[in-house]
Amino acid sequence: MENCPCCSGLKFKDCCADKISRKNPAQTPLELMRARYSAYAVKDIDFLVFSQDSRTHSGNIRQEIVDFANAVKFIKLEIHNHQHDNETQGHVNFSAYYASNGQIHRLTENSQFIFKDGEWFYLSGDTDFSTLKINRNETCPCGSGKKFKRCCANK
Ligand SMILES: [Zn+2]
Ligand SMILES: [Zn+2]
Repeated sequence: MENCPCCSGLKFKDCCADKISRKNPAQTPLELMRARYSAYAVKDIDFLVFSQDSRTHSGNIRQEIVDFANAVKFIKLEIHNHQHDNETQGHVNFSAYYASNGQIHRLTENSQFIFKDGEWFYLSGDTDFSTLKINRNETCPCGSGKKFKRCCANK
């Protein structure tokens, strides 16, 4: 893989790869948020389960993550704002765009992250989902330069 899925403009190996492998764990809520987005794109389910705080694990969190990762193709990440509330808490507000069933959807979330045992973890978030109206002849929002109907509309 060349460019990092998180839209940082960096190569995957210079951006989220070491955070996902935990060779060099995320140092901030924003780094972890980007790494989790990229982990969905590369379907690293173990990292997604690990990096979510166990307090907010539901019974079948692994299956939920697998189902979502398989059903969607993430195409774009926008960070709106992020903050360190204090040493052990932070927030990231972002929108992630993904293709699914021939349409483009937007997931906007204000995520809460906590720091414990030397690493950041995703705790929970308030999420809004919406579906974008895109004409099949429009340029695809994924940045490929192709028409939507010849690109992510087929996902
Ligand atoms: Zn990245
Ligand atoms: Zn596309």
